Amino acid sequence: MPAKTTKSPVRAAKPRPDEGLSIVVPVFNEAKGLPRLHERIAEVARFLHSKHSLAVEVVYVDDGSSDATSQTANALPAMPLDVQVVTLSRNFGKEAALLAGLDHARLGAILFMDGDGQHPPSLIETLVSRWLDDGYDVVYTAKAHRENEPWLRRTMVHWFYWLLNWRARLKIPEDAGDFRLLSPRAANALRQMPERNRFFKGLSSWIGFRQVRVDYEPAEREHGVTTWNIWSLVGLSVEALTSFSVAPLRVASLLGVVMAASALLFGAWIVMETVLFGEDVPGYPSLVVGLMVLGGVQLMMIGVLGEYIGKLLSEIKGRPVYFVAERTVKAADGPAKDSGKARPSPARAAE
Ligand code: UDP
Ligand code: MG
Repeated sequence: MPAKTTKSPVRAAKPRPDEGLSIVVPVFNEAKGLPRLHERIAEVARFLHSKHSLAVEVVYVDDGSSDATSQTANALPAMPLDVQVVTLSRNFGKEAALLAGLDHARLGAILFMDGDGQHPPSLIETLVSRWLDDGYDVVYTAKAHRENEPWLRRTMVHWFYWLLNWRARLKIPEDAGDFRLLSPRAANALRQMPERNRFFKGLSSWIGFRQVRVDYEPAEREHGVTTWNIWSLVGLSVEALTSFSVAPLRVASLLGVVMAASALLFGAWIVMETVLFGEDVPGYPSLVVGLMVLGGVQLMMIGVLGEYIGKLLSEIKGRPVYFVAERTVKAADGPAKDSGKARPSPARAAE
């Protein structure tokens, strides 16, 4: 499997399997596929336990599903791994669900994966081995290729990352997904990020430490349809851009300079024409075109500013990112309700 390493001055921490691994799975209307997914995760947990003596817990975060996801998750057998089910009070979105999982995970290392079967559980073993055997802190996966995606989407993704990483000190790797493993110290670092507008991929690359990439082939969704459409993707992109980069603001300033410079040149040209050649200035059309271009650009850039102001507003309001309606923990050897030492940060979550 090809793997790329980011250079890092950080020394490898000695990985400790006794700290255990929490597998966080956000689920939204996934009742149908959940039992099968759980079986596959349990199989991997059994293997990890025998190979690395690694204790494993799975945390299903039910993101306000309208089907039987919560009941299905609560009925899953806790063998050979602990099963924790965190039910949110409504649908808060995947990023919020991931944060809820991060806050409630009880074991040291954390692995995030989707609940629709697209992130193959068989790869978990590879990710864990890069942490335990090679000492990496962040093991992220990336789609090996995007050939099965439409051309337009591929091009848009490419441009999005170009803009996101434009002149940024920290480059967020293109194509990296949410399927990733964080060592205990990386998970703790991620918990300390206070922002409410979260772009998970960006944050977990921002924290640094020793990061490594693993390529994989995403599977087809096992059932149902993706919850993302073009608008929610555009929304996430705007969210990501405004939380991670000031590139849009810089583009605005740059555009301003270009416009002003061309207006100046155009002005000089008109003066020259009139003075040297005595020509009439053709006023009306150029005036209207100039006005419309300027007006349009200004409105667009006010919109960009507005995005940042909106972000400031939501950070200042400081609302919790999610609410937990119910939480159950089933230990591998017997049921228990609301036990375990979760670390929900009170500033971000309320129960
Ligand atoms: N998901 C969620 N909350 C939402 C939407 C999605 O927790 O509001 C979960 C969903 O159940 C799945 C994962 O996020 O486990 C990825 O969702 P999806 O498959 O729709 O996205 P894609 O794979 O197309 O990026
Ligand atoms: Mg999916």
